[in-house]
Formats: sequence, C-alpha cells, structure tokens
Amino acid sequence: MTATIVSFHAHPDDEVLLTGGTLARLAEAGHRVVLVTATSGAAGLADSGSSGGQTDAAQLGAVRLAELERSAAALGCARVVHLGYRDSGWSAVGAPDLAPDSFARVPLDRAADALAEILREENADILTAYDRNGGYGHLDHVKVHDVALAAAERAATRRVLLATVDRRVIGRAVRVLQTLRLLPAGTAADRVGSWFCDRAEITHRIRVRAVADRKRAALACHVSQAGGGEGPRTAALLLRLPRPVFRLVCGTEWFVESGALVPPRPLADPLEPAAPAGPRLQLVAVDR
Ligand SMILES: [Zn+2]
Repeated sequence: MTATIVSFHAHPDDEVLLTGGTLARLAEAGHRVVLVTATSGAAGLADSGSSGGQTDAAQLGAVRLAELERSAAALGCARVVHLGYRDSGWSAVGAPDLAPDSFARVPLDRAADALAEILREENADILTAYDRNGGYGHLDHVKVHDVALAAAERAATRRVLLATVDRRVIGRAVRVLQTLRLLPAGTAADRVGSWFCDRAEITHRIRVRAVADRKRAALACHVSQAGGGEGPRTAALLLRLPRPVFRLVCGTEWFVESGALVPPRPLADPLEPAAPAGPRLQLVAVDR
C-alpha cells in the first residue's frame, strides 16, 4: 500500500533541512510526496542585495520557487504547490509592521482552508509541518504549525508529523560553531534552549544517511540561499562539509506526532503511527 504525504513548509530550502531525507526515503519507497510552500522566501537573505524593491523581491521569489522545483525533483516529490503568501522575513520577527498579506498575518482560517483543500484533493495520509516553537521561532514557521493543525482538522487528515530537531543536538552544534567562530549572524546562542524540542517529546527519529547524497543535491539547488547577511548561512555551511561529515550531521531527522503518546523509544519509520493520546488531546488549532 502506498501512502500520500503532504509536506508543508514556510520557505524554499526548509523542506531539505528539516525533512529532506525523510521525503527522499518515502519517495524512493514509492509513496506520493507533495511539497507545499506557504511563501516564495522572497524576504529571505540573499547575496545579491536584491531584497530591496518590490520588483527585486518578486524576482528573488521567482528564483527561489524555481530552486524549490529542482530541489523537489532531487528529493523525488511528485508535485509542488505554492500557496502564494508573502514571506514575513526574518528581520521582521516581532516587529509590528509586518505587511497584511505576509504569511504570519494571514487569518488562520484562510490559510488553513487553502491547505485543507490540497489535503482533501490528495487524500493525504500524513501531513508534515513544524513543532510548536516553529523550530527557532521564525513567525512564518510558527504559522506553519498552527495552519497545519487547523487544516488537518478540517480535512480529517489523521496523522500530523511535526518536524523538529533534538534540542541537545542543536546545543552541541551551536557550541561547536561558536568555538569555530562560524555561528551565523544574529543567532542568539542563549535562546537555543527554547528552540525546537526536548528529546523526551520526540516520537520519530528517522535515519536518512542512506539518502544523504540526495539531501545534499537538493540543498545545492538553493543557490540563492548561499550568501547574504553578515555571516555564512546554514545551507552554505552544510554544503561546505566533506560528504562523510555531511552524512553524519544531516543523517537524522526528528518528528513529534501531534496528538500521540511518546513511545518508549522513538519510532524509526515515519509511516508507523505513534499511539494516539486519546480523544481529548486530538488536534487543537490555536489562533495567535
Ligand atoms: Zn524558513
């Protein structure tokens, strides 16, 4: 039996960093993988200095969507959907002047309806999104979490896997990067303790070393993400790693299954459901 997995993301390149190996494994096994991006990533940092005007942002958005198509092909995705919202931008996090059509500001109901339509059309078995912290707290990533839960409820999609990172692994990586003076600009090392999820919450730990080359190839499609800002970007840093090191660093992906009990040991197969926590703890959508 093949399954259909809809993987929902905020910006181009997020699909690789958090879920690329899992999606590649699922596609390789013959399952249908559909990639949905909320935004084109046009407000992200770029090395071209092209995020200034609206035309530049539109051009950058088109470039990033084309990169996303190539990345999706490298991962084996069957379809890519762009919901067309405006990237809220990392620099705008917490700022009161977000554009009204930015993804972070879009009414939850409207975005959830749009995603639910795709879930119904695809008859999705699994939806992937982000943990409740939006990983490192980007407003668009938090919104992905909220919209995904609301959409899954509308479309009666039974399983939602929230992509995350084992917080201890992030802490270790940040310490190494700090020592090497390679920490990307704007990273507040003291905030890392509230990023992503504690190991005790993780329901699935997926080994993806076997498809690490495909993950790397997909990451390399995001050429426009390679520079910008004041320091090296995550994607560029990872692509600089020798292949065996990349395989180690990017060889595991983590998920928290929404509304499920944490098993004694994380499950190794994304298609294996964690036991439901009971009707009272089913998907809860919060408008925030
Ligand atoms: Zn993102």
